[in-house]
Amino acid sequence: MTRRRWIAERWDEATATITGTQAEHLARVLRAQPGVEADIVAGGHVFHAEVAAVSPNEIRFNLIAEVQADPALPITLVMAVYKFDHMEWAIEKATELGVAAIAPVVSRRTEKHLAQTAPKRAERWRRIAHESAQQSRRSDVPVIHDPQPLNEIVAALSNDVRLVLAEQERSTTLRQALTEVLSAAGDEMPSLQIAIGPEGGWAPNEEALFDSNGWRAVSLGPRILRAETAAIAALSITASFLE
Ligand code: SAM
Repeated sequence: MTRRRWIAERWDEATATITGTQAEHLARVLRAQPGVEADIVAGGHVFHAEVAAVSPNEIRFNLIAEVQADPALPITLVMAVYKFDHMEWAIEKATELGVAAIAPVVSRRTEKHLAQTAPKRAERWRRIAHESAQQSRRSDVPVIHDPQPLNEIVAALSNDVRLVLAEQERSTTLRQALTEVLSAAGDEMPSLQIAIGPEGGWAPNEEALFDSNGWRAVSLGPRILRAETAAIAALSITASFLE
């Protein structure tokens, strides 16, 4: 039988502890008792574990043995801030698909009130990623960065392969770019950054900024997708190349 999986807040070499709403759920709803077995994610590793002690808002586990875990996809999604409910959906699904990190950015066409309130949303985005990682039995939780201005991330030095989704790009598809990237990388697994624009798309000066900083513009085909659809399509296509 598949064991339930929990993500620990604290751990040492022999034990791991979950707290807060996770612990409450396990104690009150699932009535966890000492001896019950589970999988525990601690520091990016997964362990077969058993409950050692239960209190209303804290459960301690003894770690029995490390189990094999699938690594995250080496992809950072650079996502322009857009309508929060759509963005939350994208964060949840991107986590299920295995993204390693999400970097929200404020771009020229990000609506003003969303840009102003985005910093306060970061904690909520982290909680969504945490719950989604647990539900999809990941061995880690994707990093959700604080929102930052687009130019900071576009111009930052990086060894990653950098692709920007652009609906007006006609000559290079994401698939073509990935085929070239993987054949150039040989046996190495490249790390990627993939940028997705807001509902109004990238402004012309942002496209020029990407271009001058070595980002490659790629297409997902002739139809214009909503930003959250583009995020999920891009991740699925990339995963099919990397996994
Ligand atoms: N500027 C567009 C408009 O209003 O007609 C819409 C932008 S689209 C809703 C949001 C983002 O999704 C784009 O900036 C781009 O990053 C990505 N995107 C959507 N469709 C795409 C496609 N066919 N190819 C590549 N990227 C796409």
